[in-house]
Amino acid sequence: MAQPAPPSCSGEPGIAVGVSLYWASQTPNTFGQSGLPAQTAFWESATVPAIYFAGTISQGAAGLKKHGVPSNSGAVHGHRYNARVLAGHIARRHFGIAVERRPLEPAAIADQLLDELSGEPGHGADIFHQRSYLARVIGVDNGTGVYDDGVQPLTHFLDVGGLNAIASTLETNTAGEIYPAVYVRRDGAITETILESDVLLDFRGEAQRKQLAEVLRPLLGAAVS
Ligand SMILES: Cc1cc2nc3c(=O)[nH]c(=O)nc-3n(C[C@H](O)[C@H](O)[C@H](O)COP(=O)(O)OP(=O)(O)OC[C@H]3O[C@@H](n4cnc5c(N)ncnc54)[C@H](O)[C@@H]3O)c2cc1C
Repeated sequence: MAQPAPPSCSGEPGIAVGVSLYWASQTPNTFGQSGLPAQTAFWESATVPAIYFAGTISQGAAGLKKHGVPSNSGAVHGHRYNARVLAGHIARRHFGIAVERRPLEPAAIADQLLDELSGEPGHGADIFHQRSYLARVIGVDNGTGVYDDGVQPLTHFLDVGGLNAIASTLETNTAGEIYPAVYVRRDGAITETILESDVLLDFRGEAQRKQLAEVLRPLLGAAVS
């Protein structure tokens, strides 16, 4: 016997999001054929504050879709990394739990970023699977120094403004090449630099090191060689 569609479900084939569990006055706005909730970069309802989404439904926060390539948020190997970032965001914002901002040595940052982008064991799975969607953020505070600001949604980094900072991620172009992209926010302006690709996905070569050093030096100073 055919199952009846849940109330408020889009009724279309594929993913159909039921919103029947919300109070009528607290029902998040949805969009598109699948009825996905409209979301901020941190997977919060765009219309009902403090309702957050995890799992496959987090694809409602589309990200940049650079070159038309979507995130992997619809799949387990994508949304699991969103969930980790979201947990930190909710802890900070709603429970007053400060997430540690690890101080970094400016001279070591280029190597650390390239190791992460190259998938050094134990590093970079989130950035590899959520290309052009999640990014490692390094904050540069003239008072307190340089610190690891964690993994954040790239669109959040690009849209919110704030202190000088660096965001590094991997991206894919229409030819299927995977390459690192580094975004620098300096005095409120964002610049984007694409590093050379590598077929073995090892971005620790001379060319990438030189490119990255040129990008980092204006923010981190002469310590970057
Ligand atoms: C055909 C297919 C193949 C896939 N293949 C892969 C793959 O190879 N690799 C991969 O990584 N991912 C794959 N995925 C995606 C993966 O299945 C999903 O990312 C994952 O299952 C999502 O988990 P979830 O908990 O977010 O949502 P779901 O597993 O959809 O769980 C949501 C639950 O909420 C319940 N629910 C909905 N509305 C209400 C309501 N109003 N009240 C109460 N309960 C409600 C639903 O009944 C459901 O049990 C595939 C998906 C499909 C459809």
